Amino acid sequence: MRVTVVEPEADGGEHATSYGNSGWLSSHSVIPPALPGAWRKVPGWLADPRGPLAVRWRHLPRAMPWLLRYLASGWTEERLQRTADALRTLLRDAPSLHRQLAIEANVPHLIEQRGLLHVYRSRAEFESEALGWRVRARTGVQWEEWDAAALRAREPDLNPRYAFGIFVAEAGSCRDPGAYVAALARHARSSGASVVRARAESFRVEDGRLRAVLTPDGEIPCDAAAICAGARSAGLAASVGSAVPLESERGYHVQVRGATRGPRTPMMAADGKLIAHWMDGRLRAGGQVEIAGLRAPADWRRADILYAHLRTMFDDLPATAESGRVERWLGHRPSTPDGLPCIGPAAATPDVVLAFGHGHVGLTGSARTGQWAARWLSGTQPSDWTSSFSPARFA
Ligand SMILES: Cc1cc2nc3c(=O)[nH]c(=O)nc-3n(C[C@H](O)[C@H](O)[C@H](O)COP(=O)(O)OP(=O)(O)OC[C@H]3O[C@@H](n4cnc5c(N)ncnc54)[C@H](O)[C@@H]3O)c2cc1C
Repeated sequence: MRVTVVEPEADGGEHATSYGNSGWLSSHSVIPPALPGAWRKVPGWLADPRGPLAVRWRHLPRAMPWLLRYLASGWTEERLQRTADALRTLLRDAPSLHRQLAIEANVPHLIEQRGLLHVYRSRAEFESEALGWRVRARTGVQWEEWDAAALRAREPDLNPRYAFGIFVAEAGSCRDPGAYVAALARHARSSGASVVRARAESFRVEDGRLRAVLTPDGEIPCDAAAICAGARSAGLAASVGSAVPLESERGYHVQVRGATRGPRTPMMAADGKLIAHWMDGRLRAGGQVEIAGLRAPADWRRADILYAHLRTMFDDLPATAESGRVERWLGHRPSTPDGLPCIGPAAATPDVVLAFGHGHVGLTGSARTGQWAARWLSGTQPSDWTSSFSPARFA
């Protein structure tokens, strides 16, 4: 195939959510955020100004149908298991697939395969998440449990209130997602792809066959296309007959230059629901879920919550996120209500394939998604794909 990438922004630029994410290649992240009983916790999270979830009231009427479906998708353990089993097929090989891509793109140092860590204040706190870990175990995820002494030995900079760790050896991480995306774009060009700096607006389809991608600067003739525009994909999908309920789960990061203490292994703190990870010398904390749509301005207080929590984990960080050493960033997780991406043909034509909606695991799931999209575009159903990912499930 002769490939054209239609992308309005610079390769690896900060407009894309993949630029500022937490760099986890978490093949074990098979649990959608809405667990059974999550609805009971939602009022408490919303009432807590420092909590991990926020909804802008002005956006609530629009988001409500999506939110209700989102909570319903994790209503029972059986539903949760079905989602987890499907996600596992997408994510299982992610660390090695990314490692291979990084080697091909000449940036092997950006992808590491040395495990990921979840830290808890106690074993009891870990056990309060037992359901999620039970479901993970059934998909084949294995882990090591570290007691306080083991955690201290491996993470000497971490505040001692964390007394229990779960180490997932199979998982990997990316040291700089923005640089990784830029390197992949360079690699695509050197392999013959061309890039058009434009925003795709819709498609020209005649007699069920794709003829062109439409942009404000004119048409790009083609006979196959994949829609992978993150949280901005829903309008493009609708123009080829596939209505996908897509919401932005907005998230934030803070990043400190010149930090002297931090994690040895990229880690998620269960109490703050944030990930702390070094990004080529900068200490980054990513997290928060804010439901406010694509256009509302950033609420930097959400990033400051992350920063305040990071300071309780590691010493010697500047007193406020206002410091010149601290950067803040907002991104849009493209999320479907059932926690699974849409990967598969559009309703109006098999020539257009949808490949978006990865929510919290879009970096991890991107390598396998690319393979599946390519197979669909060459007219073959991928052998390990299941209908759980079909865009038609929302029809
Ligand atoms: C704080 C935070 C932390 C996260 N941590 C992780 C993590 O550790 N691991 C993980 O796997 N995931 C993580 N995620 C989720 C992950 O970043 C997303 O799932 C992923 O970026 C989605 O990828 P995407 O390519 O679909 O969308 P994006 O990364 O948003 O990229 C979309 C691209 O489409 C382009 N585009 C938009 N509109 C158009 C158009 N009309 N025409 C052409 N191009 C267009 C954009 O310019 C952009 O380049 C995190 C997200 C956040 C917010």
